[in-house]
Amino acid sequence: MEDFSFRQIHLDFHTSEFIDNIGKQFSKKDFQEKLKLGHVSSINIFAKCHHGWAYHPSKANEIHPNLSFDLLGEMINACHEIGVKAPVYISAGLDEKMARRHPEWLIRDKDEKLKCFGVLRYDFMEPGYHEFCFNSPYLDYLIEQIEEIVTNYPCDGLWLDIVGERECYCQNCVKKLLEAGKDPRDKVAVKELAKETFANYINRVKDVVYKIKPGMKIFHNSGHIHRGRRDLLEFSTHTEVESLPTGGWGYENFPLSARYVQNKGKVFLGMTGKFHTTWGEFGGFKHPNALRYEAAFCLANGSRCSIGDQMHPEGFLDEATYDLIGKAYSEVETKEEWCSDVKACTDVAFLTLEAVEIKGNLSTNASKKEGENIYKSDIGTLRVLQEGNFLYDVIDLEDDFLQYKVLILPDYVRVDNELQEKLNEFINKGGKILATGESGLDIEGKNFAIDLGIDYIGTNEYNPDYFKPNFDLYSLKKTAFVQYSIGQKIKLNGAKEIGCRENPYFNREVFRFSSHQHTPNKIDNVGAGMTEHPNGIYIAWNMFEDYGTIGSLPSKEILIYALNKLLDNKTIEINLPSQGITTLMHQESKSRYINHILYASPIKRGEASLGTNPTDMDTFEVIEDLLPLYNIKVSTSVNQKIEKVYLAPQMEEIEFVQENGRVNYEVPRVECHQMVVLAY
Ligand SMILES: [Zn+2]
Repeated sequence: MEDFSFRQIHLDFHTSEFIDNIGKQFSKKDFQEKLKLGHVSSINIFAKCHHGWAYHPSKANEIHPNLSFDLLGEMINACHEIGVKAPVYISAGLDEKMARRHPEWLIRDKDEKLKCFGVLRYDFMEPGYHEFCFNSPYLDYLIEQIEEIVTNYPCDGLWLDIVGERECYCQNCVKKLLEAGKDPRDKVAVKELAKETFANYINRVKDVVYKIKPGMKIFHNSGHIHRGRRDLLEFSTHTEVESLPTGGWGYENFPLSARYVQNKGKVFLGMTGKFHTTWGEFGGFKHPNALRYEAAFCLANGSRCSIGDQMHPEGFLDEATYDLIGKAYSEVETKEEWCSDVKACTDVAFLTLEAVEIKGNLSTNASKKEGENIYKSDIGTLRVLQEGNFLYDVIDLEDDFLQYKVLILPDYVRVDNELQEKLNEFINKGGKILATGESGLDIEGKNFAIDLGIDYIGTNEYNPDYFKPNFDLYSLKKTAFVQYSIGQKIKLNGAKEIGCRENPYFNREVFRFSSHQHTPNKIDNVGAGMTEHPNGIYIAWNMFEDYGTIGSLPSKEILIYALNKLLDNKTIEINLPSQGITTLMHQESKSRYINHILYASPIKRGEASLGTNPTDMDTFEVIEDLLPLYNIKVSTSVNQKIEKVYLAPQMEEIEFVQENGRVNYEVPRVECHQMVVLAY
């Protein structure tokens, strides 16, 4: 499990046949020097690109028309000579040369529209790739290519790109459905066939590879980690979280996926890029501080690192790029001994709505933008937990709830019998629930399915309305705070009210409105808005979604207040600013805990559309300045008697006091990332 590099490069090389002199400047010595400059320990190199060309002599495929030697073999040789691993990349789903020869093998929608990256996009009159259906003869063609590469080259793994469950209406798929007595108009049948087709591809790859090299690492890349689909995680030997923070994923996508996979028992890595934007950006760069932070962010989440680059067609690695990468990876190299074989210590878990949806427990009122994978409630929950410095996992309904002190049901989690049983067991064993909005209601939305000491009345007819807590917020005095999301009306049945609802005078409409935005609050307690009960806390609005959408301070502070009330003996207390991040990793094999402290403030530097759809706006978040923090006070709850506390990798001991089950220490300075080791 631990035989896995921390400092990886994903070296794209999608190169058109209209470019000459492929690999002309390749030099083993220069390639090796650049890898050393970048402190690289593993690099994914190309056997076949999205254009469909092979970068090696091939019988199963066609070598790039402007390449005259075995570039793949030379690159593997260059890597192995200096102890760098060389997994091999194969474009599985895309092969543009073949797409034009056999358009009948492509994935298509009902109206014959083609797809790319699983999304309806291109016809043949726009530049861009087309994706193959694995229910066509293309699969045999691909499997032969894989067999040839694994037979002929000492590759350290296989990296197969652009694959996943794709609903397809090509005539092969239609025929298959009809022959099985199914109706191609039945969406469920089409979905099932998509699963079957993908599983068949996975098994064919596994069979052909393991016949030649049993146990080889195989990764199938779908881009997004589908939270709740554990079966998909099992298809690969390890997990890679493709998440380029400046390439449209943002800085919140990686932790959502990382905290989901961190307790699933597989080695995983986080993949970012050296680009300012995303893949294929020749000549685009981010600041070294951004890459330093992103690599450290991986380590702090128990992940290995991978940085995306694209090689020049003439076959050399760019000096500016490997100098940039080296600034991040030279630091990783000094830190990795504290980062392998670690287990995250966590207090809180939240049920990700993506997984809740798969199991059929999601309210139909939950919505997300067309084409997006992530619910705003998930983003809001992640932000609250991260900014509140809670130790957390992102979980699905199959995870063991009993390992957590507090379980968050964000906004839209409806409870069926199976979940009710699991939640009741959790509550009976002392676990606490934080439920917001419609969460905790039964599947029909009529009554609460778990006992939070409240009864359900219905949805509030006023919107926006106001929440008036009985407590001061951390930064603000108590008052009526506007709630943009739809509120739920409840009545007390054993719980204590810790805040109430106030309605506006009226809803804003064309013949009756007041002021610029919404109507002010009519000062009158019209019912509980937040309640406390031995089983947990309930808040009557989709407050996580509101925070994920609007980011208002009161929402965050109310949710943090609730979590702090539910959590006694928090594993970590720390005085970090809101953009500070902390994690605690247990490295049992070395008898130590590692407290990671990170700090950077990404800022928005622009907004533009780089894709083919001009309405798809990408925002560009940038990290340039890494301001140091001073005198960070930490209190950690651990069971063992701590012998010493030191800063790593500096190996400087710091003073600490262990009393009443807590270890207290002060970290004098944190710039970007600091590990504090608690050795026992
Ligand atoms: Zn098909």
